[in-house]
Amino acid sequence: MPDQRPRAEVVVELDAIRHNVTLLAARAPGSATMAVVKADGYGHGALPVAQAALEAGATWLGSCSLAEALDLRAAGIEARIMSWLDVPETDLAAGIEAGIDLSASSVRELADIARSAQRTGKPARVHLKIDTGLSRNGCQPHDWPELVDSAAKAQTDGRVEVIAVWSHLACADEPGHPATDRQAERFRHAYDIARDAGLHPMRHLANSAATLDRPDLHFDMVRVGIAMYGLNPLPQNEDLRPAMTFRSSVALTKRLPAGESVSYGHTWTSTRDTTLALVPVGYADGVPRALSNRMDVWLAGRRRPIVGRVCMDQIVIDCGDDEIREGEEVVLFGDGHLGEPTAREWADTLGTIDYEIVTGMYRPRVARSYR
Ligand SMILES: *Cc1c(COP(=O)(O)O)cnc(C)c1O
Repeated sequence: MPDQRPRAEVVVELDAIRHNVTLLAARAPGSATMAVVKADGYGHGALPVAQAALEAGATWLGSCSLAEALDLRAAGIEARIMSWLDVPETDLAAGIEAGIDLSASSVRELADIARSAQRTGKPARVHLKIDTGLSRNGCQPHDWPELVDSAAKAQTDGRVEVIAVWSHLACADEPGHPATDRQAERFRHAYDIARDAGLHPMRHLANSAATLDRPDLHFDMVRVGIAMYGLNPLPQNEDLRPAMTFRSSVALTKRLPAGESVSYGHTWTSTRDTTLALVPVGYADGVPRALSNRMDVWLAGRRRPIVGRVCMDQIVIDCGDDEIREGEEVVLFGDGHLGEPTAREWADTLGTIDYEIVTGMYRPRVARSYR
């Protein structure tokens, strides 16, 4: 169906991505910038975001799974790509062939990588991950010397090339949190052990929050995710521009007499005659049902409330006595410059983080376009 007007649409401002990457790279001038585009670019589209980030000065891309990384290669991306979390028996050889950097958190993972490298006849590029206190993946400090020794041997055999020692922070979005310094100390110690084993890896530790808040932890590369999409992980202000707008249009308007109730369960009743606008987006399109009666949209020049329950496919907006045109644009969230709700406001209302809001916007029924 060419040229159909989308019912619901995510619009991604690639200039905002470029602006944010430029700002973040300037905050870590001595370090390379990795643009993290996992989960389809946090819901923004991995490929267009990757291209914009590379244009703005990023030189690495980060993806969670090898499948995501291979998709980027297949689309013609030639930059360094690192992929860090797959299950055993993933076809690592495909990644090694494609020049994807892999991560090893254990001797078993390293052995899998080395074996795949032997099959392809090409050394695998490996980043050794130390668990400095997040306790997710990464190698526990007591197992680290063994992992480092195995890696040094595999490097001597020509099966792997040890590119980096790396780790991930647990509490960088809370400036001054004591866990960050503790993690940094363990990280430095793990690096020293790798050096003592004769390795000369680069180091990377910082996520967006640490890129903005902890210049002492930038090391050789920073890995920026959320801030590149314009969402600020820190309590202090930063000049970031949210890249994603979620919008729809008014499908129908009607006058409702006072005393009538709206939507399933009749959770809202009008106290006066009013105009309702029906908007064809619901929880199947990324409007959480928990926003029922708790959020506004931007419509015809001002904020107006969602009244009654959010349904699977539609919401109802109370417009009072204002004239509302059918077909008028409705902004569910945006960068906030007009006064419209932001992904952050949704997250605060729902008791979650904006990462979850934008990442949840990749849905088959929601169109995506780029500006
Ligand atoms: C997601 C992720 C990042 C980016 O984190 P942000 O908080 O979005 O900047 C960096 N490193 C790793 C390992 C990640 O999984």
